[in-house]
Amino acid sequence: MAEPTLMEKLVSLCKRRGFIFPGSEIYGGLNGTWDYGPLGVELLRNVKNAWWHDNVTSREDIVGLDAAIIMNRTVWQASGHEVNFTDPLVDCKTCKSRFRADQIAESQCPKKPSMNPGQFKECQLTEARKFNLMFKTFVGPVEESATQVYLRPETAQGIFVNFKNVLDSTRVKLPFGIAQIGKAFRNEITPKQFIFRSREFEQMEIEFFCHPNDSQQWYAKWRDERFKWYQDLGLKGSNLRLREHAKDELSHYSTGTSDVEYQFPWGWGELEGIAHRGDYDLKQHMQFSGKDLSYYDDQTKERFVPHVIEPSAGATRSVLAFLCEAYAEEEVEGEKRLVMRFHPRLAPVKAAIFPLVNKDGMPERSMVIYKDLQRHMPVFYDDKGAVGRRYRRQDEAGTPFCITIDGQTAQDQTVTVRERDSMKQQRVSTDKLLALLTERLGSDCQ
Ligand code: ATP
Repeated sequence: MAEPTLMEKLVSLCKRRGFIFPGSEIYGGLNGTWDYGPLGVELLRNVKNAWWHDNVTSREDIVGLDAAIIMNRTVWQASGHEVNFTDPLVDCKTCKSRFRADQIAESQCPKKPSMNPGQFKECQLTEARKFNLMFKTFVGPVEESATQVYLRPETAQGIFVNFKNVLDSTRVKLPFGIAQIGKAFRNEITPKQFIFRSREFEQMEIEFFCHPNDSQQWYAKWRDERFKWYQDLGLKGSNLRLREHAKDELSHYSTGTSDVEYQFPWGWGELEGIAHRGDYDLKQHMQFSGKDLSYYDDQTKERFVPHVIEPSAGATRSVLAFLCEAYAEEEVEGEKRLVMRFHPRLAPVKAAIFPLVNKDGMPERSMVIYKDLQRHMPVFYDDKGAVGRRYRRQDEAGTPFCITIDGQTAQDQTVTVRERDSMKQQRVSTDKLLALLTERLGSDCQ
């Protein structure tokens, strides 16, 4: 049998250890949907918390927002999504499969996987037609077009429509940004590569408003800052790149767009787009809503429509990059060790506490340490099975430290602290334990 690919191993680990499960699995699943299990929900939350901390709470020039997922339909007419948010779809009349016309070269013919769709003699591909990716639904009890709405395909529009509310209710002054994290929905023609392209996912977006004269400078600043964010969280330089869009790739209103891309096991894929959007969005919403969304600078006495820089990231897609980067297999004393080397800020559990055996007061002493640490960071208590196996389970969960309470603990109040990556062990006095963990994990890990 062929050795499973890295992606197959990762998907299997995610299911086995409770990171990510296929959506609605007991009913045969629902393509393009995924459920985050006990470890996955912590990992995803840590990614979002790190983003929120670094982009909102630790800055003076960004405020947060949480807009409704279902919005007035006119929002999507103004943004252009109702007409333009489409992918080109082709059907194969023979095997009834669907493909994105622009991805034929990377797709396989289901009948002849060594060929692209359309190459096998039996293939009968239709002409490409436009397929709108927005999910439709209805507000109220009667399914008529007057009440038709969409599940938002991005969080950004919720920010633009609240631009004036934020200006009027806070003391923000240009340049400033509004940030939002939330669910987005796209009826992707071919959801694939695990959670990379799903139909329901989460985004982390900032709309940064500035004076038109300063916008190129802000664009460059955001592009570089966002790239560095992923590096700081452990994505290696060789697996990460910043790709500036060529002129012919840019939307008509954009003077610059860059993608932060990660080298996934199947190739490079976008994690985040940083776009200079000019005044396009605010002007569109001014036109469609009839409301004035211009900005008055009371120092220069100038009124203008701000320009916007938009760093738009995928939270769930970033989780996949962090999972791929963390995954490592190594040989330790003739045995295979699988370890998830998450950055400490992202690790779902920061430390695991083990009594060496379930007697001689060890469980009681362990519980005291566990309860004490629990007030400061996410920790896990495990008293089942041989200690070596408990280490291996925590390696797979990506837990940076394991703390073992043994017979010596009762005599000299020390415990063994074992580090995930080096597997080095040291004895530490219990009263120094919290200080050691906080120092080694960094202050942003609680
Ligand atoms: P792609 O070209 O991969 O479809 P996009 O350019 O349409 O992505 P944007 O509209 O710029 O993506 O969305 C911003 C971010 O949202 C992307 O960089 C990605 O991280 C995330 N994202 C977009 N579509 C999906 C999806 N179907 N599943 C998971 N994440 C997504």
